[in-house]
Amino acid sequence: MNPSLESLLADADLCVKCGLCSPHCPTYRQTADENESPRGRIALIQGWASGRLPLTAALRKPLDDCLLCRNCEAVCPAKVPYARLMDRFRAETGQDRKSLAARALSSAVREGLRHPLLANLGRRALDAAARLPGGSAWKALPPAGNPENWYGEHPAAGEPIAHAGLFLGCTAAVADAATVTAILELLPRLGVSVTVPGNQACCGAMDLHAGDAAAAHALMSRNIEAFAKPLDAVIGFASGCSATLLEYRHHSDTPAAETLSAKVQDVSRFLADRIRPERWDLAPLEAKILVHTPCSLRNVCKTESSVDALLRRIPGAEVKILPDKGRCCGAAGSYMVEHRRMAEAIRAETVEAILAESPDYLATSNIGCALHLRAGLQGRADIPVVHPVQLLARLQRA
Ligand code: SF4
Ligand code: SF4
Repeated sequence: MNPSLESLLADADLCVKCGLCSPHCPTYRQTADENESPRGRIALIQGWASGRLPLTAALRKPLDDCLLCRNCEAVCPAKVPYARLMDRFRAETGQDRKSLAARALSSAVREGLRHPLLANLGRRALDAAARLPGGSAWKALPPAGNPENWYGEHPAAGEPIAHAGLFLGCTAAVADAATVTAILELLPRLGVSVTVPGNQACCGAMDLHAGDAAAAHALMSRNIEAFAKPLDAVIGFASGCSATLLEYRHHSDTPAAETLSAKVQDVSRFLADRIRPERWDLAPLEAKILVHTPCSLRNVCKTESSVDALLRRIPGAEVKILPDKGRCCGAAGSYMVEHRRMAEAIRAETVEAILAESPDYLATSNIGCALHLRAGLQGRADIPVVHPVQLLARLQRA
């Protein structure tokens, strides 16, 4: 047997089929279909890898429906490396048995986000669509930014306490300029020098999850080279990207990949760990801040408590974690575009939970979740959806 199929089967065979993961799986919760559960997906992969099941569109569908939220991995008593299993299956099968429309959409999203010219054209099209009747969902997009204005050195005010590299990710310019601006304002004021390498690239997560391992690994190599500098930390602010950077060490056994992964921290963890309490001078905010925890922050970065700890520093603020944490909002990067119906169905439960809390702000650490939830709240409640660092930058006085 092909050695990569053997290692795929070895991972799959760790599953003891206990089903403890099923209630935590967003697609199973929607469909109650065993094929749409982690256990069912693992059984399908076993069937295919052992030659018992052919790769048909019907076999492919539930495997493509997986959001890679990793809720199953977090609760699995047998420690099945579910994400590695799914990424390997997708790398082995590539785009085979996907419809032409699905392949075209997947490629358009990935290429569109990563090429500035296409991204700007796409952005203009979306801005125009927002003005059309029925175009309200696109109004959830915030103003675009220009990465050329961010590249380079942003020295600390006064004696630096740390030197951090800032990872932007491919969505920053298109959809999350406000968070970049907030970080580049806040960190130097807190004594952190920030370097934004101009030769960095997309983290590679979208290619990896789409089954294009070669494209993902090429992007990883570019980032490893871009951040090969004497930095104390490499900061991500979209937890989906931070999660991928943290696992570069699983995709390359080079010392440089290990060094980068070891330095990666989500921005909230970096601030909670590095900034001494006396450096914070936050203006009061009499407001209820509801914290949404992205699956990538909880299941891979494992740093959701840092967000809570930072926001609780704001005098007067009532900070509450969104109840039912452990559920996915349905965004999952490009999933919300490629699997729109399922993504919206999964989101509905989270939107109702947010509305029930009636917060003044919703804070989330992943731009994909922010966009998806903002669109879900559109027309129902006027709740600003922000990155936690945006609130801290706005309130820090010193
Ligand atoms: S990664 Fe998420 S969507 Fe996929 S099987 Fe696991 S729990 Fe379900
Ligand atoms: S919890 Fe783990 S061992 Fe149990 S069915 Fe799910 S993946 Fe398999």
